[in-house]
Amino acid sequence: MSDPLSAYRAKRSPDRTPEPFGPVGSAGGRLFVVHKHAARRLHWDLRLEMDGVLRSWAVPKGPSYDQRDKRLAVFVEDHPLEYGDFEGMIPEGNYGAGAVIVWDRGTWTPLEDPIEGLKKGKLLFTLQGNKLHGRWTLVKIKKGQKDW
Ligand code: MN
Repeated sequence: MSDPLSAYRAKRSPDRTPEPFGPVGSAGGRLFVVHKHAARRLHWDLRLEMDGVLRSWAVPKGPSYDQRDKRLAVFVEDHPLEYGDFEGMIPEGNYGAGAVIVWDRGTWTPLEDPIEGLKKGKLLFTLQGNKLHGRWTLVKIKKGQKDW
């Protein structure tokens, strides 16, 4: 299998950003993290641990507590597990330049097979975090695209 972090590493240089480059972790954990990222445009990054990496979506408006709300979530490159602890300032001129803080963190529980769900474009899960509790659904808008 190809390295799931190759896209992540290709966008960053280790001597120019404080972000972790860590290896792919072991499978089986269920960490979730939401980073608040004050990049060129403020957004929230939802990350769900799957297969030893953090599968990630950039959510421009952040997660909603209202089940009727639909929020765009753009699927982005897998991040290393260590990114779950990352907070810091990505220097100007680098990919994602700006301040990153952990906005929420906890565990997530898939309600259906998440590997199949990722392929199909539908993930049902609950979050057990400090701020976020309850059930969320990620649905891919159109096959072959990155918008969910
Ligand atoms: Mn981001």
